[in-house]
This record gives sequence, C-alpha cells and structure tokens, in this order.
Amino acid sequence: MQTNFSAAQLSDPHVAESEKILRKCVHCGFCTATCPTYVTLGNELDSPRGRIYLIKDMLENGRPADKEIVTHIDRCLSCLACMTTCPSGVNYMHLVDHARAHIQETYKRPLLDRLKRAMLAFVLPYPNRFRAALKFAGLGRPFIGLFEKLPALKPVAAMLKLAPPAIPPASPMASPATHAGKGARRGRVAILTGCAQSVLDPAINEATISLLTRLGVEVVVPEGEGCCGALVHHMGREGQALASARQNVDVWTRAIEQGGLDAIIITASGCGTTIKDYGFMLRLDPAYAEKAARVSALAKDVTEYLAALDLPEPVRKPGTVVAYHSACSMQHGQKITRQPKELLAKAGFVVREPREGHLCCGSAGTYNILQPDISAKLRDRKVKNIEATGASVVATGNIGCITQITSAAKLPVVHTIKLLDWAYGGPKPEGVSERVLAAAE
Ligand code: SF4
Ligand code: SF4
Repeated sequence: MQTNFSAAQLSDPHVAESEKILRKCVHCGFCTATCPTYVTLGNELDSPRGRIYLIKDMLENGRPADKEIVTHIDRCLSCLACMTTCPSGVNYMHLVDHARAHIQETYKRPLLDRLKRAMLAFVLPYPNRFRAALKFAGLGRPFIGLFEKLPALKPVAAMLKLAPPAIPPASPMASPATHAGKGARRGRVAILTGCAQSVLDPAINEATISLLTRLGVEVVVPEGEGCCGALVHHMGREGQALASARQNVDVWTRAIEQGGLDAIIITASGCGTTIKDYGFMLRLDPAYAEKAARVSALAKDVTEYLAALDLPEPVRKPGTVVAYHSACSMQHGQKITRQPKELLAKAGFVVREPREGHLCCGSAGTYNILQPDISAKLRDRKVKNIEATGASVVATGNIGCITQITSAAKLPVVHTIKLLDWAYGGPKPEGVSERVLAAAE
C-alpha cells in the first residue's frame, strides 16, 4: 500500500513502525474471510482491511481519532485471525495497538464510556480489587434484566452475567515461594501468577506447579509479579501497560540473576501473547529494551514448555472425548496449535476440534463487557460448534475463553493443564463432574 507520511511524521518511531506495516498491505482482502467482526456484521469497515484504511487515514493526516474510527476499532477483538490469514505478513497487532493508544490520547469518549473503562482498568488487573468486586456482583445479579434493557448499562449486565456465583479462596501457591522439583532435576522456571485468573480459577496454576514439580522442574513464584498489562494495553492505556511490563521485567530479571531460568511459564494465552511482545513494547526504552527482549524470549505457554519435555506414560488412560478450543491468543497470537492437542492425545484423551476453530469466542479481554452484543453472537456460534463435537468436556488455555464459553455451554470447560495434571496423577479437575471422568476411567 502506498503511503504519504512526511519526514517529520516519520521521525516519530511509532508512526515509522506503523508506516512499515501499512506498506506491506496489498489490499487483497483475504483477511476479511476470517475476521469475526466482518463475518458477523458484514461491514467492510469492521474488517481488517477496512480498519487498516481507517488507521492509515487517521495517522497519515495526523488527525485526532473521531467517532467513526473509534466505533470500528473498538469492535476489533484483537483476535489476530487476520495475521494468521494475511499472506503479506502485515503486523496488524502492532498497528491496532498504535491506533488504540492514539485514540486514548486524542479522543474524548462519552462520560459513561470513560467511567466504564476507568473502572475496568482500576479493578481487573489487581486481584484484591477484583475479588472484592466479584463479591459485590451478587448484589447486582437480580437487576441483570433491568440493566440489559438500558443500552448504557448493558456492559454492567454483561459483567454481572460473567461473574461466577462463587469465588474460590486465594491459593497459597500464588504466594512467593520456590517449589522444588521431585526426582532428577529437569529445569527451573518462573510462573506468572497473573491477575484475573488467580482470582477466578487459582487451581490452574496449582495444577501447573503440581505437574511441573512432579516432572522434576523447580517452579519459582517470584515476589512482586503483577498483571502482564494486556487488559489495559488493549484499551490503549499505554502508560499503565508499560508500567506493568517494566515491573514484571524487573521481577523476572532478578529471578534470572538469582538462579537462572529456563522459561517463564504462562498459563493464560492472552498474557503469553503480551509478554512475548514485551521486547517490542519496551524497545524504545534504553533501560529496559534488552531485559524485556530476554524476558520475551523466555516466555512460554505451559503446553509449549511441556511439549519440549520428554513426558512419561500417563498414570491414567482416560479416553474422555475432549473438544479442544484454541484461544485466539494461543493460535493466532502465539502460533501454538499442535502442542496442546498432542499433549492431550498423548495423555489418553480423544481430542476433537470444533468447526470454525479460527473464529474468536468473543471473550477477548474486556471485549465481552464493552461489546456485549457482538460478543454474545460469537459466543453462541462457538458454543454451538463445540457442542456439535459430542465431547463431554472442553479444554482450552485461556481464562477469558473459559469464563466466556462456560457462560453458555452445557458441558464443563477447563484449562488444558488440569486435564493433563489429572492424567499424570494429579487430582480430578474441580470443574469437571465426577461422572464425566469416572465414566472414562
Ligand atoms: S484482530 Fe480479529 S477482529 Fe480485529 S481485524 Fe483482525 S481478525 Fe478482525
Ligand atoms: S490479507 Fe494482509 S495484505 Fe491482504 S488486505 Fe488483509 S492485511 Fe492487507
């Protein structure tokens, strides 16, 4: 694509980067076919190509964001299906991240929208605040029907519907500690405790630590870890996102210096995509660029790490039919497609893949709260495809997808690691009924 940026504009490294991306796009439109918002809404401006044109126009003319561009960029899930499809290697992720930051800087949203976003950015990345907010959700639940009728309060209704009826207690395993590996030492890793996941389902990291240590891997939960920054990054809040990134880079750099790390294990693929991008996000910060690149290189999804270990024979041979839902951040963001399915199959599960596996479930960070109508359509489409597999349980590697699919599916949805941990001798995953697994044992 031809671009017309001035030399002065290109002196801004963010603009220069976006210009490079824009020039790669050949307007072929292949990406439209796999874009969930284009498939759902049928509007070119809600396709990757349409958004690329809107972003180009805004940046090239050096103008502030307007209502039209904000509408169409807000509807983008950042699912990155377009990047998987694009034959020209257009880095849509970095382009839309830049557009979101530009929107945040130059556009004044309506008051209610600003409040909603400020509240999400204040609560979600902090486990204590999030836990407290979930406790209050019970009080609002009786009013869901009323909130749904008022367009301005639909996001509140969406949030209340997603909030689980019971919140598990905080896990002692989330506290800073070193969990020694059993038997012959096979590695040393740090694990991201995370934010929302540690509140909604602390058993995911418990299963991860339990399985890794049984396999001989020492797992460090370092002091001072926080949210990876993805939630606010996708809202264009660059300052907050970069502060989170720097904090984690410092924490993991200390862990590397104090005993070495073979990997930084991440159990939420949404976080993994962002942490693998820390090197890019902090490239312009001389104090952090090198350290951040090192952290990104060490970041591994837990299935990616496990697939590189020589796993023993599983303790159980379950035979349970599992529908594997590949989170967008797993398949498009990190290009991890094979490993989770192969690990499940090796552990004795029968893996089925739902149709339209490339399409997002509509979770996408805070998308299911901020865009509840599109999100619900995508969720229902996803659940229909999952249920058509005839599986008795769904496995996936991202807490956002687990919450989203659980809100509409009849079958249990669990993190892949819980099924693996069980097959290799761990406890039954709590989210799966005794009946589902007992029948298969
Ligand atoms: S990130 Fe997803 S929703 Fe956004 S343009 Fe690409 S395919 Fe469409
Ligand atoms: S597939 Fe790639 S090159 Fe083609 S229009 Fe989409 S982003 Fe541009």
